[in-house]
Amino acid sequence: MPIIESVAVCSAAVPLERVTSFSTRTVTTRHYGLVKVRSTDGVEGIGFCYVGSVAGELLTVAVEQLLAPVLIGKDSYAVEGLWKAMYEEALLHGRAGTVMRALSILDIALWDLNARTHGLPLHKYLGAHELDTVPAYASGGYYLEGKTPEKLGEEMASYAGMGFRAVKMKGGRLSPQQEERRVKAAREAVGADVELMIDMNNGWSDLTQALQHVRRIEQFDPYFIEEPFSPDDVDNHARLARATRIPLATGEIGYGRWYHKELLDKGAAAILQTDAAVCGGITEWCKIAATAASHGVVMCPHWFHDLHAPLVAATPNARYVEYFWDDQVLNFRRLVDRQLSHRNGRIQLHDTPGLGFCFDEQQVAKYGQWQRIA
Ligand SMILES: [Mg+2]
Repeated sequence: MPIIESVAVCSAAVPLERVTSFSTRTVTTRHYGLVKVRSTDGVEGIGFCYVGSVAGELLTVAVEQLLAPVLIGKDSYAVEGLWKAMYEEALLHGRAGTVMRALSILDIALWDLNARTHGLPLHKYLGAHELDTVPAYASGGYYLEGKTPEKLGEEMASYAGMGFRAVKMKGGRLSPQQEERRVKAAREAVGADVELMIDMNNGWSDLTQALQHVRRIEQFDPYFIEEPFSPDDVDNHARLARATRIPLATGEIGYGRWYHKELLDKGAAAILQTDAAVCGGITEWCKIAATAASHGVVMCPHWFHDLHAPLVAATPNARYVEYFWDDQVLNFRRLVDRQLSHRNGRIQLHDTPGLGFCFDEQQVAKYGQWQRIA
């Protein structure tokens, strides 16, 4: 019986090589929360998340003082019970945001630990739907100094050239006219057969503003528009969904089964982008995906492809993994010792136990320091 012996936590601040912007934010450094959960069998599971551009130490405190004490000395197979115990501990401190991210990555580490204990890759441990590869879309199209619509088009076409049948760009930062030029350039560059998605990153504040944009970009037939409003403005998502034929995708900053149920009940999303490192870990992600299936809604999880490829492989109503082909924007790639490969728009799964990779400790040491709780 594997008993949880220790938990280690690290906040790693990794600077971006180029200052990068999306609708309302500009990023120079990314803070990542990393955990390792070790059992008395000598097996270690890992978890990781993004904690924004500042104050990554908040996560370290949540793990150290609030959540790791719940896990130490417990049976690692009691995943649901440990989730509930951590959630009760988090109740007053943060059912969303950094405390929920801390809970999420400890839950991910438990799944990874248990899959490694059994010698099974995570997608098979979860009950695979796809065994070898999963479909992915190429994510990019950020705002950079001097990046014209033509250059954006070239970037999008380069992903199509690598074999991706779906690509995503950023939107929502400039005027409706300027954004129309960007979307037009991207559509013309990739052609009619490649799905094009546009991520607004909560850039619009009201329905009128959203419609000024949407009416101009409907003609370019996007597969979806992502996060048009603040995540808490569920009613405006529902209103916009009724006002446009473009499907809406959201949920990447959403937490817990109850928030996602509200999105589904109100018809606020046709695609859920729930992130296991944000919403409450793999345990909660699977519950949300099952509810989405009951509503006929597909999952296209946000961000970390390393984490989400096995989840998409184990979920019949999952459509795509979001894939970042280099380490410029998703610079977390620098912190792990193995990269997933892609071919013809599909990510290759592997048969290595658990998540199938570890932290690159030399790299992690450049950006942060481990603290061990036992
Ligand atoms: Mg997004």
